[in-house]
Amino acid sequence: MIKTQLLTEKDIEAAAAILRAGGLVGIPTETVYGLGANGLDPAAVRRIFEAKGRPQDNPLILHIPDPSWLERYCRDVPAAARRLAEQFWPGPLTMILPRRALVPDEVTCGLETVGVRCPDHPVTLAIIRAAGVPVAAPSGNRSGRPSPTCARHMLEDMEGRIQAVVDGGPCGVGVESTIVDLTLPVPRLLRPGGLPLEALEAVLGHVDVDRAVTAPLSPGEKPRAPGMKYRHYAPRAPVTVVTGDGAATAAYIRRQAGANAGVICFTEYQEQFPGCTVRSIGPAGDRGEQARRVFDALRSFDGTPVTAIFAQCPGEEGLGLAVANRLKKAAGFQIVAAEEGEP
Ligand code: AMP
Ligand code: MG
Repeated sequence: MIKTQLLTEKDIEAAAAILRAGGLVGIPTETVYGLGANGLDPAAVRRIFEAKGRPQDNPLILHIPDPSWLERYCRDVPAAARRLAEQFWPGPLTMILPRRALVPDEVTCGLETVGVRCPDHPVTLAIIRAAGVPVAAPSGNRSGRPSPTCARHMLEDMEGRIQAVVDGGPCGVGVESTIVDLTLPVPRLLRPGGLPLEALEAVLGHVDVDRAVTAPLSPGEKPRAPGMKYRHYAPRAPVTVVTGDGAATAAYIRRQAGANAGVICFTEYQEQFPGCTVRSIGPAGDRGEQARRVFDALRSFDGTPVTAIFAQCPGEEGLGLAVANRLKKAAGFQIVAAEEGEP
């Protein structure tokens, strides 16, 4: 067991020193909390996999403090990547680009590409600058669990496993970064996230959406983002996602939810599930609020008597694509469509 220190936003130097020494630090970002290590130190990066229980073939994202660092770790950077960096960094966008040889195999899991992002959080930007190295960081949860969106979530999963967590407040976006692969003839969305697809397409034109975003992989199928093949974001109780309009999904859940059911719903419907453990994730029309609250809602059922969770699913416009994707993955793609007009 390691003694995990809880640091504040004033402890930039202390966090940077841990990173330089090869240790692990929970870092706040605008998307979710990350589990950071020196991204140029193979032994430090291996510790991330151990602390998370992360599968060995699931690569990490390199976090940099500004776009000028992109060329250090990536080659053949296309004009499109520069435009995206200019428009959206710092921000919730990860770009997949050809890597340079100095990026350790431990970060990319041997792939010839690397994911790079510049996070929009002043504390973490200051820590990366003070450390003077890119920070490799996946989300700071134990593998398979919902991502952490506050320092308390990080401690729940990582206390005793890492040197420190820096408390930078709750995450403003709440879902992970959008991942776009720029190494293909047509850019491809590998993971919907905090930057809406519509915003990407406004800069890039058409973006292909990887099948794994909306559907489960077939047995043996090899995804382009290796992380997509694993169970993700899952609370202990099984989740069923219900798609359709708000009234129809609420009616469906009322019929199906038995004793010890948990419900994730929009604020307008929260009174409609008496006897259930209910978590609202914000108004039906406020996808930003839903993104901020979805992981906390998923986590909150652990340690309660809830044995089955039902979730109202937002439509897929804007941030809805990312919220719906996280719910569907938490459910292992156990999805039912509520018929409109059902009683
Ligand atoms: P996490 O930060 O835990 O959400 O994990 C990082 C995500 O980025 C995972 O889904 C990885 O599969 C994905 N990723 C990282 N590097 C690459 C890469 N070179 N190519 C494709 N996906 C990547
Ligand atoms: Mg993750």
